[in-house]
Amino acid sequence: MSTIESITLVLALVYSISLLYWSKQKWGAALCGALLMAALVISLHWPLFVGLGLSLLLLPLFNKFQPALAQGGVVNGQRVKGNKANQLKEMIRHALALSMMLVGIQFAINAALLKAEITPWLVRPDIGDAFLPIAGGIELKAILGLGLWDQNHPAAAVMLVVVLLTGLLCKRAFCGWACPLGLAGDYLYSLRKRFIKQELAPPAWLDWILRMIKYLLLAALVLLVFTMPLASIPHYLDGYYHKVADLKMALFFLSPTAISLMCFSLILAIAAWKRQGFCRYICPYGALLGLVSFLSPFKIRRTTEQCLIEGKGMKCDKCTRACPANIIVHTQTTIRSDECQACMNCISACPKKEALHFSTRWGMVMSYRGLTVLVLMLLFMIPLWAYVGGFWHSETPTEIRMMLIQHLNSIGH
Ligand code: SF4
Ligand code: SF4
Repeated sequence: MSTIESITLVLALVYSISLLYWSKQKWGAALCGALLMAALVISLHWPLFVGLGLSLLLLPLFNKFQPALAQGGVVNGQRVKGNKANQLKEMIRHALALSMMLVGIQFAINAALLKAEITPWLVRPDIGDAFLPIAGGIELKAILGLGLWDQNHPAAAVMLVVVLLTGLLCKRAFCGWACPLGLAGDYLYSLRKRFIKQELAPPAWLDWILRMIKYLLLAALVLLVFTMPLASIPHYLDGYYHKVADLKMALFFLSPTAISLMCFSLILAIAAWKRQGFCRYICPYGALLGLVSFLSPFKIRRTTEQCLIEGKGMKCDKCTRACPANIIVHTQTTIRSDECQACMNCISACPKKEALHFSTRWGMVMSYRGLTVLVLMLLFMIPLWAYVGGFWHSETPTEIRMMLIQHLNSIGH
């Protein structure tokens, strides 16, 4: 685990624990604190202790600014003055995007040094394997079918499990609260709205057809993993292609062909055209989370007796108008949609605080703080324990990567 990863990880975990503590969940905070300390002591990895020291110094700041730090979110292209849920969500999204940017820089420096045949003084960030979902799927198949753990990109399988768990527990909260690509899409969309004010929403039939694209892409990826014979997986995991799958992925984006350039342009155009266009139409991860999220016990639920419509006989559709995913909230009692990102914009917009909740059918309500803590714990505590257990760090020797990066173009499956 690299120094940047370690420090980011401990800062995020201490912040989550402090949120739990300030939300009066003292036992939860104590348990999470104990898990964190145990992982630190077992690992004895010095950057984790630097992160701990730094976060202890920052604790008074966390307290002073919890949780209202950032500006409000982007709703229908307008940057709105934020309420607490939006502020916290935007802060988390920006902090995670910033840390991913640092990871990208670290990865690029490491790769450039390898290419120049200089032993890297900056280690490869293992978290970059989160961008290898196919490798993660193949690794999971190897773990489940053969009991075999990959030694080259083990973090890919760990991060796939983390993302699936977020979907299973709290809808597509990963898309709404963590994904840096979704944030980039939001900025692109608001930039477009500055110059072209119209919404340009597609008709419902076209929207439905476009939404199916991401499921087709997901089906193609799942088919790829499922049709790979189990017996051939050890050979694949030990092959040159898998050892440099991260570098091949980087090369794909850095030296695009004419066709991939056209695809990128189309993706950017879709993201600028429609709010959450990339997540809604293209992203196979979004499709996977959309499917898994049907199983999530937590959903947006409307208590009709409290709602202004049934309770007071008034007209109201503020929740629907606030929804960035175009879900009709004000006529439903439970939002089961695969597009719901648990962003809580509808709850924030509702004038009757008891009318809308993110809750289970048996009445357990999750606040925006609770959701933040859950998402951060899943995103950081599981990788920390994977690291402690030896299921995180790549064991590919630097010399092998240095040799392979010189022949990247000729390495195939
Ligand atoms: S239904 Fe509510 S939580 Fe779900 S996407 Fe719409 S605004 Fe966000
Ligand atoms: S915003 Fe609140 S009160 Fe208005 S329709 Fe939605 S749930 Fe009911």
